[in-house]
Amino acid sequence: MSALSYVSEDKNSAWATYLAQVERVLPYLGDLSKWADTLRHPKRALIVDIPLEMDDGSVRHFEGYRVQHNLSRGPGKGGVRFHPDVTLEEVMALSAWMTVKCAAINLPFGGAKGGVRVDPRELSRKELERLTRRYTSEIGSIIGPQQDIPAPDVGTNPQVMAWMMDTWSMNVGATSTGVVTGKPIHLGGSLGRVKATGRGVFVTGRAMAQRINLPLENARVAVQGFGNVGSVAAELFSEAGALIVAVQDHSATLYNASGIDVAALTEWQQQTGSISGYRGAMSVSHEAFWEQGYDIVVPAALEGQITADRARKLVCKLVLEGANGPTLPAADDILKERGITVVPDVICNAGGVTVSYFEWVQDFSSFFWSEDEINERLDRIMEQALLAVWNKSLELGVTLRTAAYAVACERILEARRERGLYP
Ligand code: GLU
Repeated sequence: MSALSYVSEDKNSAWATYLAQVERVLPYLGDLSKWADTLRHPKRALIVDIPLEMDDGSVRHFEGYRVQHNLSRGPGKGGVRFHPDVTLEEVMALSAWMTVKCAAINLPFGGAKGGVRVDPRELSRKELERLTRRYTSEIGSIIGPQQDIPAPDVGTNPQVMAWMMDTWSMNVGATSTGVVTGKPIHLGGSLGRVKATGRGVFVTGRAMAQRINLPLENARVAVQGFGNVGSVAAELFSEAGALIVAVQDHSATLYNASGIDVAALTEWQQQTGSISGYRGAMSVSHEAFWEQGYDIVVPAALEGQITADRARKLVCKLVLEGANGPTLPAADDILKERGITVVPDVICNAGGVTVSYFEWVQDFSSFFWSEDEINERLDRIMEQALLAVWNKSLELGVTLRTAAYAVACERILEARRERGLYP
């Protein structure tokens, strides 16, 4: 295997996590493993400089990226992250996870991801708009409805997607709604897209809970991250009769043994910008989140949260990866040994990109579906994908993650083999 010159030695980086996950599936790929190095080499990585005039007249420069990890199965697909910790290596890993995710669900896409190293909370609305437009213009030559279709991720939202769509459209001289997904509804967005990722976490979680005989009624659920994914998953689990006993975001960790009122917490968070100060639960230390007893834990924040240490302490039956890459490989082994089932990110949080696919199809046909149709199709696709991965895990005797990689990598490498190398 040839190492990439632009990758660090950090063993806990998101890219190192991804490579370790690929390593584990190799013994199950048969002849296709000949092509496996493809998975370790992003096809294309673009680094852009984004000079931004701030409201006070000063100029600041931000680093932006768009990585297309693999395009063997279709156009690139994947979100854009605005976060101060974004790096090229992180975006590479996130783009690779999109390749695996789209293949695991069998969406006709490759994998891509973008990011800007910026704290969007420190920008005014006008600054955010200028940053988004310049970033879009800079990556404009490699994105497009048939090439690579961005979407929201951490720190971006439908408004940011509207600016991206507008900028790309202005540059090509025609409105092209299909260039990004996760747009506002009246700009070619899809019903159900905002809640789709959280809904997918719930649907796959419910299906897996049933398989391991874990009733959702009164199940004790902990959710890390109370953004678009965590808050919706919490809402749906709570509606299904589970108790959301712990919630953590960047500002605080809340605990209430008799269950947090998710609607009230969501309202508080929307009004104040975080969960800190909410009175319906006890505030505990950050690390205490990992030390209580639960049935289900939903990491729905950033990568690398479940370390080996935390995996040893964690008391629960089911981990539902709402975030991308929340579990380090060493922690995966410990959870497996301890009999804790993990529904991996590439299946668990694929609801978002699945409805993004619906949005892209609707934009092309200019024919829009009802929310019920979208949710029914989403639930069916997620449940079937989970079942295929479950069966694969029984067949190979491996974790759900390795099984999901087996299903996905077979599809990716088969496409690679059939297309052949150019020239
Ligand atoms: N950012 C989301 C993810 O990580 C959604 C990507 C998309 O809709 O293209 O899956």
